[in-house]
Amino acid sequence: MNTILVTGGAGFIGSNFVRHTLERGKIKIINLDKLTYAGNLESMADVMDSPDHIFVQGSIGDRNLVKQLLCEYCPNAVVNLAAESHVDRSIDGPADFIHTNIVGTFELLEAARAYWSQLNGAEKESFRFLHVSTDEVYGSLGPEGYFTEESPYAPNSPYSASKASSDHLVRAYHHTYGLPVLTTNCSNNYGPYQFPEKLIPLMILNALDNKPLPVYGDGQNVRDWLYVEDHCRALLTVLDKGQPGEVYNIGGNNEKTNLDVVHTLCDLLDEVLPRKDGNSYRKLIKFVKDRPGHDRRYAIDASKIKRELSWMPVETFETGLHKTVQWYLNNQEWWRRVLDGSYRGERLGLGNKL
Ligand code: NAD
Repeated sequence: MNTILVTGGAGFIGSNFVRHTLERGKIKIINLDKLTYAGNLESMADVMDSPDHIFVQGSIGDRNLVKQLLCEYCPNAVVNLAAESHVDRSIDGPADFIHTNIVGTFELLEAARAYWSQLNGAEKESFRFLHVSTDEVYGSLGPEGYFTEESPYAPNSPYSASKASSDHLVRAYHHTYGLPVLTTNCSNNYGPYQFPEKLIPLMILNALDNKPLPVYGDGQNVRDWLYVEDHCRALLTVLDKGQPGEVYNIGGNNEKTNLDVVHTLCDLLDEVLPRKDGNSYRKLIKFVKDRPGHDRRYAIDASKIKRELSWMPVETFETGLHKTVQWYLNNQEWWRRVLDGSYRGERLGLGNKL
């Protein structure tokens, strides 16, 4: 049986990754998560009792704890999904982003390097450190072109700058120490268990509660959307077949303006849950002051991972969005407990967010 140390496994992508990986079987997961506001044990309720899943509350910045976990469970891989991940929060207060995304990744790398250096033979050969990152490190595109693995880094927000910094550290640990690292840079994810501060769940939940649907600026910022399970499949593919030291861009080839996304969501909701007053959910759209430094367009060229590792997304934007809307409709208790803060025993007041 293989063992993976997953960090940030109580977050959005992390909880989907843990569930998806356990479903494959023959794997043990040690899940290290600090349980910040974004970490939610209720996102893992169905896997908490699995004998193949061990949850540990703690920080990637706690080198001794990570070393202890590595020595005790002898994983074949570390998958680093722990991060502060919300751009708006990084603008309001960058400090946590620096501590977790940069210093935390450094501490995790140090612990992994110490562990890996004392492995021998096949165990040492097959060990992998997979660092999960974002396409935002590449900055903003004009109307043409795509981010490739060779695109220069040009991060524009404290969030993307902190992720860029962590990517550089990961790269350096390969070049300097030979640590067998893999880095993935992925486009915007959506799907079940996403914290409702992010665009798609925020719009669904506000629509269901008849609240305004806030769209930044003119709504013409473009993002490339990927269903979270497709991202999880890509991560396992990179872990299985990726070349140490390599970077793989992951994207869904689904470029949409924010306004397009909100329109599509409104149309879907009009179909599955028409409003009582007969109006479309589109009536709730409200344009709000743009985010400072808002990147205009991200678009991923994912041809390397397709060509070299044979990964392709399974979902289209339409099928993925349909599943997502259905999931939020069927899992009201999960998100109502997030909105009122009871998922962590305190009131966050997120229900009052526009
Ligand atoms: P998230 O905010 O939903 O989850 C992050 C998790 O990390 C939470 O469970 C949180 O408790 C945990 N965490 C935070 N600080 C920690 C620390 N110091 N030690 C241990 N755990 C800690 O984020 P997400 O959307 O699941 O993103 C996961 C990773 O994927 C991030 O690195 C992010 O940059 C990257 N990514 C996200 C997207 C996206 O669209 N969501 C796209 C590309 C890349």
